[in-house]
Amino acid sequence: MAALNEVPDWMRPPGLPSHRMPSAQALQRLKAGNARYVTQRSGEGHSPGSPVTAEFPFAVVVGCLEPDAAGEHLFAETPGAVQCVRTAGPSLGADTMAAIEYAVLVQNVSLVLVLGHQGCGALRAAADARAAGSVPLPGELTGWVSRAATGTRLGDPATGHVRALRAVLHRADSLLTLIRSGEVKIAAGVLAPATGAIEFLPDEPDEVEDDCPSVSRRVELGS
Ligand SMILES: [Zn+2]
Repeated sequence: MAALNEVPDWMRPPGLPSHRMPSAQALQRLKAGNARYVTQRSGEGHSPGSPVTAEFPFAVVVGCLEPDAAGEHLFAETPGAVQCVRTAGPSLGADTMAAIEYAVLVQNVSLVLVLGHQGCGALRAAADARAAGSVPLPGELTGWVSRAATGTRLGDPATGHVRALRAVLHRADSLLTLIRSGEVKIAAGVLAPATGAIEFLPDEPDEVEDDCPSVSRRVELGS
């Protein structure tokens, strides 16, 4: 029986290289791509565009669904090199986790970027709903509130939130071995929608709130 952090080989796409891109290289490439995007957007640079589609992605970005809050275009990359999962906040519900696990364990992606953004309406709504207490909400929203409000009390809401989500991912059983070995990196960033620039947060132990259900108060990095 396969270990919890492995998938059967038949799940992998044909032709997938056996080795991941080094995670530090993936992060540098993502940062450089965003810097390139900001330059292009300001009109100072021109991208000829790439006619080639990447065979496999090297990064997955977990961002918010709101307009201008996330997207593959922010990295001015070869089409297909970066893929994006967008949910409100974002939050790490079951399907978001499955998308991350698919990218990391099946597609051999070596970088996960948790991306928040300045002025996030979803985080504000979640924080307000949490503050309002036990107000009945339809459908999946009650569970979403606790996930999306996580970290928003720790200073800047978007920064606190992505740090809390990074802590959740650092504790995920399915990713633990790959994170600790350095093969996979969980990065966190906050987007300024006005410019398209992403502030990549430093690697540091992530503080999380006491009421965050699935993480402890302080999570040490695996390295
Ligand atoms: Zn948002």
